[in-house]
Amino acid sequence: MQKADVLCYLEQKKDELNEISHKIWSNPEVSGEEKESADLFRILLAENGFEVKEIEGMEHAFIAEYGSGAPVIAVLGEYDALPGLSQAVDTKFNPIKQNGPGHGCGHNLLGTAALGAVLAVKKYLEETKLSGTIRFYGCPEEETLAGKVKMIKKGAFEGCDLALSWHPMAANTALEHAFLAMNSIKFRFHGISSHAGQSPEAGRSALDAVELMNVGANYLREHVIEKARIHYTITNAGGAPNIVPKEAESWYYVRAPFRKDVEEITERLFKVAKGAAMMTETTVDYEVISGCYEMLPNKVLFDLTYQNMLEIGAPKYTEEELAFAKALQETLDPQAVAGETKKLMPEANGEEANIHQGVLEKEKANSVVVAGSSDSGDVSWIMPMNLFLTACFPLGVANHSWQATASSGSSIGMKGMHFAAKVLSGIMYDLLNDPSIVNAAKAEFNKRTERRKYVSPLK
Ligand SMILES: [Zn+2]
Repeated sequence: MQKADVLCYLEQKKDELNEISHKIWSNPEVSGEEKESADLFRILLAENGFEVKEIEGMEHAFIAEYGSGAPVIAVLGEYDALPGLSQAVDTKFNPIKQNGPGHGCGHNLLGTAALGAVLAVKKYLEETKLSGTIRFYGCPEEETLAGKVKMIKKGAFEGCDLALSWHPMAANTALEHAFLAMNSIKFRFHGISSHAGQSPEAGRSALDAVELMNVGANYLREHVIEKARIHYTITNAGGAPNIVPKEAESWYYVRAPFRKDVEEITERLFKVAKGAAMMTETTVDYEVISGCYEMLPNKVLFDLTYQNMLEIGAPKYTEEELAFAKALQETLDPQAVAGETKKLMPEANGEEANIHQGVLEKEKANSVVVAGSSDSGDVSWIMPMNLFLTACFPLGVANHSWQATASSGSSIGMKGMHFAAKVLSGIMYDLLNDPSIVNAAKAEFNKRTERRKYVSPLK
């Protein structure tokens, strides 16, 4: 069995994979509730000879392992959906269930491509008896940025040599840099309630503290690095206006390209919170809900990924698919679409381009900014890791949109998924056949983490 045979095996599995991804798409389960999606993967992997292990305290997380010996390769599979993004495979806004959940980040494709890749490589290991272990990691709670952080804390990734993942997006590209590091923190202020009309002097307002903290945070913005992001909502603003609020709560996200900046800004935000409490004679406590790292680059794996993307080649689309993509683009801001097209497909030269075709040149990969956060970043700090993107949405469609849900359920999304499955298995094929690549990736990882080791954002 050669690499071409591994890819050919995946080609034969196409319909089966489409069906699995569609099943998950049709039954979207949000973070923490991914029961049926996780079970579907567990059962399929067990049926295919993988040993399925549970992760204590995480109902919808698991490890499915096949093979023996080195290298031990982790493939990350996610399957959670997003609230409020229900949408049919339609070019008009058409939710299947009003305000229901939907796969607006394409994790139905993400998990299924990872599944396809490990099944193909399992077949290869079985036939060649090569040394190597593959592990499918069932990773829940990605959208709340918590699943993998918890899994790391529980030691679920111990014994792995490296990790691979991918993500549905509007471009085919290997990535060297990705994700913003972040902290998600809830601040709870405690005051003294009193009758707001009769005895306001006896009250100490927790809501005043929340508001003053927000003012302080908005002044802090001016004095942090330009690429930092601070966003908040008020999650408890008290009750009736005639009662001085005893309890109030705000929820903050701090994001920046590097974890060290997030930590530094978070410390300063704690001071702002304390200052607000002092001004209002209230007290404050906080809880770090989740936090994650940016992706640590690994040039060796980046090069290998790019090579495989080129070798395998991006999908081609039918007239029908291009028309569907065009109709979806028409629901977007034309300038945003034009901007994306110019960046990703300059060869289109102002002409209409509906789906990214081909693979973005290696030199341009860093122009693709993945400005969200992901708990996959944390995995890249405990072992060498790489992540790539494939075009599963039309150019200009952003993740976490109804247009993305529509694409994730369409044949456009599925083509991106098959491409991803092939790239993942191609990378694994190379890693299994050339231990020097694994060693080089590990040496690079060790060098990059020499001075800065991973510390869990969770207490
Ligand atoms: Zn996602």
